[in-house]
Amino acid sequence: PTALLWFRRDLRLGDHPALLAASDAAGPDGDVLPVFVFDDRLWGPSGAPRRRFLLDCLTALDDDLGGALVLRSGDPARVLPELVREVGATSVHVSADAGPYGRRRDDAVEQALGDVPFVRTGSPYLVTPGRITKRNGTPFQVFSPFARAWREHGWRAPAHSPGAVRWRTGVRSDDPPPRPEATADLPPAGEQAALDAWALFRDERLLGYAEGRNLPGTSGTSRLSAYLKYGCIHPRTLVADLAAGEQTESARRYTDELAWRDFYADVLWHRPESAREYLKPELRALGYDSGPHAEELVRAWEQGRTGFPIVDAGMRQLLGEAYVHNRVRMIVASFLVKDLHQEWTLGARHFMRHLVDGDLASNNHGWQWVAGTGTDASPYYRVFNPVTQGKKFDPDGAYVKRWVPELRDLDPRHVHEPWTAPGGIPDGYPEPIVDHAHERQVALDRYARVRAG
Ligand code: FAD
Repeated sequence: PTALLWFRRDLRLGDHPALLAASDAAGPDGDVLPVFVFDDRLWGPSGAPRRRFLLDCLTALDDDLGGALVLRSGDPARVLPELVREVGATSVHVSADAGPYGRRRDDAVEQALGDVPFVRTGSPYLVTPGRITKRNGTPFQVFSPFARAWREHGWRAPAHSPGAVRWRTGVRSDDPPPRPEATADLPPAGEQAALDAWALFRDERLLGYAEGRNLPGTSGTSRLSAYLKYGCIHPRTLVADLAAGEQTESARRYTDELAWRDFYADVLWHRPESAREYLKPELRALGYDSGPHAEELVRAWEQGRTGFPIVDAGMRQLLGEAYVHNRVRMIVASFLVKDLHQEWTLGARHFMRHLVDGDLASNNHGWQWVAGTGTDASPYYRVFNPVTQGKKFDPDGAYVKRWVPELRDLDPRHVHEPWTAPGGIPDGYPEPIVDHAHERQVALDRYARVRAG
């Protein structure tokens, strides 16, 4: 028999439970047909960085499969039953999708397949979203208790290798969509690149992670987010490696960050509307700025010309590398929402267009967290001050200087507030577009008004 393995966010061959299931279903005399479907519903809204990275991951996967990967385009609920008939497949295997569209799509595919089993094995997460609830069966709303329950729940060991899988070859592929021009420097794609990036981090940087993770001017984090997003590596592989090593504060911190990833996927699973709707609906009445001047300020934010160095460095990193350091994601998001008084959804959409790791659950809930409309327990008075954040987390100005060349010659004492430099703001760099102290108060007043009803 032929078992069909439909790759989605699991573009790897190692530690892959659905691959094991497909290979078991095929048995010693059967084969496995690996397929990827370009679905307009997902491909359409992806920005150039994600399209390019995904295409490159598929090329790498196809190489690892010895050229067997079949590409098809169209609605999976039509394409997969057709392919099943074409090759006489007896089952279809996937890693479960936890997103709102993915779940609807998979139900539709399962129905369209009729008698051919649609088998979900594993997911892109350590704990399958939806599994962890409070004792009374309701979902967790905040991170810390979720993380405690998540650690207690635990996770499986990495999946063993299926041995020599016979891949079915000779099946026609559709032409893939065109590969977009490079707009940003992207990481190398594919499973081997992910394993290499992890090994480098584990061996050379992990020990300093607990402190280094907050310093955007250093290589303090693993830079694995795009690989995790597309499943070039599974978080199980990472925690198994961590468990085998020394139990340091940094190893614990790193596991915690993977818990955030699981947490946001869990929130989205329980409340699929939360990708777009406020988790705290009462804050919908906040009120936002609009009109030509507000739009001009948003353009300045997008282009990294706000006159606040750490904000501008972050927004330029987004365009330059399709990535932003986590600390800086919080700073630039806070600036858009609380200094420019724009709705978090606008920023979330902008990030999704430009990030290579753009992920609905992590991104949109990250935005809701910063906006105070989401899962933060004490959110609304948290307004990031871009100057003090810059001084604290980029003390020598290395991050700002990398992305904002206009400020390269400034003394570190002035780099986060160039208006204090003896020679004034360097040529070509803008004045601050808003008065942070004033806008902070405006934001706090709006939040207070809404909360007072
Ligand atoms: P590391 O510090 O090495 O962390 C390891 C992994 O843990 C990451 O790769 C990621 O998978 C996970 N992780 C770390 N922090 C978080 C977090 N706060 N939430 C969820 N997962 C986390 N992450 C995305 O993967 N995609 C997004 O689209 C995304 N958008 C974000 C938007 C905002 C406004 C904010 C504040 C955060 C967002 N994050 C997003 C989370 C975080 O910024 C990135 O995961 C992290 O910067 C990726 O870099 P890294 O791999 O070096 O992280």
